[in-house]
Amino acid sequence: MAYMNFLRESAAPIAALMRRLHGALPLDPAALAPGHCDLCQCASRASRLCPYCRGLVLASMANGGARCAVCRLRLDGRKRCPDCPPGGYAFDRIIAAFDYAAPGDLLIHQLKSRGKFISAATLAGLLADAVQDAGPPLSKATILVSVPAGRAAVLRRGFNPAAEIARSLSRRLRLAHRPELLVRARDGASQTRLNRHERGLHARALFRCAGDVSGRDIAVVDDVLTTGSTLHSIALALKEAGAASVCGLVVARTPY
Ligand SMILES: [Zn+2]
Ligand SMILES: [Zn+2]
Repeated sequence: MAYMNFLRESAAPIAALMRRLHGALPLDPAALAPGHCDLCQCASRASRLCPYCRGLVLASMANGGARCAVCRLRLDGRKRCPDCPPGGYAFDRIIAAFDYAAPGDLLIHQLKSRGKFISAATLAGLLADAVQDAGPPLSKATILVSVPAGRAAVLRRGFNPAAEIARSLSRRLRLAHRPELLVRARDGASQTRLNRHERGLHARALFRCAGDVSGRDIAVVDDVLTTGSTLHSIALALKEAGAASVCGLVVARTPY
């Protein structure tokens, strides 16, 4: 009995200490260890690309010309964004780290198709930098959620790439990650073979909010944004549940 009381009394201060230590960490712990660049394999800090590869991956964003202010699509001289629907999206804005093109797409491929977990931390680092460079900044009370994977995808991969990126991103940005707030209302088929219009129809009512988000700012993390239809569907669910704002944080934006 005395031992049980000791355990009960010591658990709370230890939990508080762990929370303080977690909050004090400046970066994802993996990022402090020596390692290799995920692309060229030269010596680099773990979970960080070498400066050369980083420059190549981010060049699409730096040199791509004008972009849609809402969905970050590269406009390539167009006056109107071809992806934004006439009534607008339910989300407020998108922040993207780079265009889904070589060589950055290789990092996504390593994570999603080859199960290379370390790439999630590298991608989260690139996304964290994009969030910090984007304006206006996210509020400190922003809650991160990740796009829930379909059952078939989880069974195939054994993990949800978006959730892995969100977990690492929450440490870097010191924002709460609450993946349980968002669930799939039904399991749709994979979208990879659908065209842009079909994706829009398919994503409707796929998700529902499973917690209290009233008045909260929510940032939804995903690996690749192709048309915005998935994030639109999620933002509808979150705003119907009372969310004050919904922002999409995506590692890569697919060009038109
Ligand atoms: Zn490199
Ligand atoms: Zn747009």
